[in-house]
Amino acid sequence: MDRERKAALDKTRPNSSRRGYDGTWEVLAKAFLAEPGNDKCQCGRPATLVAHKVSIKRRPDLRLERTNWRPSCGRCNNRDTAEDRRKQRI
Ligand SMILES: [Zn+2]
Repeated sequence: MDRERKAALDKTRPNSSRRGYDGTWEVLAKAFLAEPGNDKCQCGRPATLVAHKVSIKRRPDLRLERTNWRPSCGRCNNRDTAEDRRKQRI
């Protein structure tokens, strides 16, 4: 009985973890953006996501480290991601 219920729960879980983002991250990121002072990106546009100051490609251990977070908008995040990729080629 218990095992069946667990299997059913597993099936309802979102599979966003495949992209490296799990439910915990979504919840923490939303809460972070809801805090005072975290509603704006550095460019002044409304923050829509949480970016990592140090890329989690370099430091995956800092993914859930709040001191490594900053509010960001999609545009800046795309630019930073592109920049990061460029740096990695050098
Ligand atoms: Zn921005």
